[in-house]
Amino acid sequence: MVEYRCGNCKKKVDLNVESIGLQCPYCGSKIFYKERPPIAKRVKAR
Ligand SMILES: [Zn+2]
Repeated sequence: MVEYRCGNCKKKVDLNVESIGLQCPYCGSKIFYKERPPIAKRVKAR
């Protein structure tokens, strides 16, 4: 699952790129940043 943050209103939006394309439902902006979920990557240390 990929979340985006609107580059204009800074709201987090769920975008279905395949159906509606990239457009903010709140302000209509088409500038988005890909929001990475805060997953702590495990680093193999040994
Ligand atoms: Zn927006």
